[in-house]
Amino acid sequence: MAVPIEKARWVDFHCHLDLYPNHEQLIAECDKARIATLAVTTTPKAWARNKQFAEKASLVRVALGLHPQLVAERESEIALFERLLPETRYVGEVGLDAGPRFYKSFEAQERVFERVLRACAEHGDKILTIHSVRSVTKVLQHLDKNLQQGRGKVVMHWFTGTASEARRAVDLGCYFSINSEMLRSSRTRSLLGQLPVERLLTETDGPFVQVDGVAVHPKSVADTVDQLATLYGLNSGDMAAQILCNLSVLVKH
Ligand code: MN
Repeated sequence: MAVPIEKARWVDFHCHLDLYPNHEQLIAECDKARIATLAVTTTPKAWARNKQFAEKASLVRVALGLHPQLVAERESEIALFERLLPETRYVGEVGLDAGPRFYKSFEAQERVFERVLRACAEHGDKILTIHSVRSVTKVLQHLDKNLQQGRGKVVMHWFTGTASEARRAVDLGCYFSINSEMLRSSRTRSLLGQLPVERLLTETDGPFVQVDGVAVHPKSVADTVDQLATLYGLNSGDMAAQILCNLSVLVKH
C-alpha cells in the first residue's frame, strides 16, 4: 500500500526499475531503505506490468512514458499513452533527443511530445520527468506553449543545458533531478551550484548509470546527496532534508 511520500528518507526520482533483471527485488529494496522512487517507463506497453509490480509497494510510484529514443519505431503508441494517462499522476520518461543517433526522428519526437504535453495540460496536476539531450531550448519552448505553469509540474532529468537555459527552466518552474554521472563533469558541477537549492531532487537513471561496470541501485542516491551537500556548502543531513522537502512541495496538489 502506498504511504505518504513524507515517510521517505531518500529520493530517486528517475529510475528504470523494470530494466533491471531483479525488478521486484529492487522495489522491496526501495521500500526497505525508504527511498521515494519514481519508476519511469520507456513505452506505454510497459505500464500494466510496472503498475502491477508496484501495487504492493509503499514508496515506489510508476510513471507512464514514451521515451524520445523509441519514437522512431513507436510513434503510434502515443494513442495508448493518451488512453492510459488518467490512471497515473506521474509521466516519464518523455521529452526530446537531438543527439546524432536520434536526430532523424526529431520531427516525430516533437509531434509526440506536443501530444504528451497537451494531454497532461488537459488532465492537469501531472508531474513529468523530462529528457532533453541537446534540445533544452526546444523542450522549454514546448513547455511554454503546451504546459503552462499551473497545469502540470516538470522535473528536468539529467539536465545538460547551458546556464541561460537553466535560468529559463527555473523561471518556468522546473525542478532538476541530479545523478552521480552528472556530477562527474566540472562544467555541470559549476552550473548546478547556480541552481536554487529548493529545485533540486536526486535520481539514479539506473541501470543506465553504472559504476565500475555495475548498474547503480536507488540506494546510491545517498552518495549523490553527499556530493550535492559539498557543492552547496551544507552538511549531508541538511541536504537530504532539503531534497525531501523539495519532493513534498513538488507532489503537493
Ligand atoms: Mn532515463
